Amino acid sequence: MKGVIMDMLRGGETDRAVCVSLSGCQGMTPVEIQEKTGVFWPKAHQDPDLMTDLVMKSMELTGFENVRVPFDACVEPEALGAEVKWGDEKTDPYITKYPYTENPLELEIPDDITTLGRIPVIIECISQLDKELSDVVIGSTVMGPITLVGELIGTENLLRKTLTDPKLIRDLVERVKPVTLELISLYSDAGSDVVQVIEPSCSNDMIPPNTYKDIAHPIHKEIAEKTDTPTILHICGQIDEIIPEIAGAGYNAITIHSGINPIKTKKQTKNNLKILGDISPDSQANATPKKVEQEVKKAIQRGIDFIEPYDGVVSTAKLKNLQTMTKTTKQTQ
Ligand SMILES: [Zn+2]
Repeated sequence: MKGVIMDMLRGGETDRAVCVSLSGCQGMTPVEIQEKTGVFWPKAHQDPDLMTDLVMKSMELTGFENVRVPFDACVEPEALGAEVKWGDEKTDPYITKYPYTENPLELEIPDDITTLGRIPVIIECISQLDKELSDVVIGSTVMGPITLVGELIGTENLLRKTLTDPKLIRDLVERVKPVTLELISLYSDAGSDVVQVIEPSCSNDMIPPNTYKDIAHPIHKEIAEKTDTPTILHICGQIDEIIPEIAGAGYNAITIHSGINPIKTKKQTKNNLKILGDISPDSQANATPKKVEQEVKKAIQRGIDFIEPYDGVVSTAKLKNLQTMTKTTKQTQ
């Protein structure tokens, strides 16, 4: 199946949709899977062996056609000095103190990032997965530069300064951009077949569409241009007004929420990329399997290429619903 998925990401077509969990700010290891594996967050965020065991078990139990690490979105900020609370089996790690709120111009990136924070953990986990899995797509997550600046100077600060001091934000984004590029390269070398760039701070709810076009889009384009590994651009939340830019940034795939028409999006990019989506966190956690089945069928009819839990698998997702996603996708032509 790995060959089929990689071929799709590079522009090929198949006769059926595929169910994966390649994108989203959430990982793919909800509480129910932690309980069945006997491996729990937050330890699994910090130990490459536990991370490997848990994500492989998730793939086996759910039927998703891939694995993806890390499970949280704090790796880069933590590595660059943010203080992190580790959460519990239900709660993702989260940042409690941004390191450069008061002094953004002191933000400097060390020459060698490979030993910082949990970066070695993620690299080791990807290497282990690469040894264990010969025919499974290994996905990984890196934080995009705009969101990373927000996680270092404070998200509110980022949003305010994109309006009041765009020059500063451009400067800071340029400073952190090498981190995103370097991690894509390190994870790819370790065995990651596809890397998603997450940019939750780039949705229309966070920064105005014109700011996206002015500051973020050129950087996103540059990252795609400089990367050989297939990449996915994930911006969660409202993206309606920046779809042409996102779709034209040169990524192999993008994620969309259920309010966006995938057929129209594909037309906007002359069928040049694949669409991932869009089973909501609410459906994953609260819907009946019958309702999930209907949503999967609807997503396939709407032309979604990769059926996915939207924004990753929420920690409260029911295993039965995830299994229904993969089963229904397989059975639907
Ligand atoms: Zn997201």
